[in-house]
Amino acid sequence: GSDHTASPSEVVNDCLLLTRHELDAARIEVETSLQSIRTVPMERTELQQVVVNLIINALHAVKQEGRLSISVEDANDGVIITVADTGVGMSRETLRHIFDPFFTTKQAEGTGLGLSISQRLVTEAGGRLTAESVEGEGSTFHMWLPATPDSD
Ligand code: ADP
Ligand code: MG
Repeated sequence: GSDHTASPSEVVNDCLLLTRHELDAARIEVETSLQSIRTVPMERTELQQVVVNLIINALHAVKQEGRLSISVEDANDGVIITVADTGVGMSRETLRHIFDPFFTTKQAEGTGLGLSISQRLVTEAGGRLTAESVEGEGSTFHMWLPATPDSD
């Protein structure tokens, strides 16, 4: 909200509700583990934008009948949100460019802005957004955000 803090666990829940129809239609199995009650110094709508971007990218990568796992855990003085899919994965070359503005491998619907904007929003909040992937197996995005002091 306007207080400039957000609960990652609540935001992940919101994002899964927003994308539920698409995930169901693609028969993607969703696994969630929401273990943190901390808040982070980010606008709720901004964190929502980042997490929805990651979920929609996973949906595009999986296409049909894969798995999407999302977890929220405490980590040191912050929170780690992990979004993992069993989709097509990325080559090392693709992985090198995914955070570049306008980089996309999609034919029509891709703007290539989702991850660059997401990384900017996370960095501005003092956090980090990183990715790892194995081609043909899937991708995992890790987002670390500092916790709002005393938020647990
Ligand atoms: P867009 O989705 O519009 O292409 P993004 O910035 O969201 O732009 O993503 C950039 C590129 O990163 C995608 O085109 C795709 O090649 C790659 N990518 C992002 N997320 C995933 C994922 N979960 N699995 C495989 N590739 C991905
Ligand atoms: Mg995208």
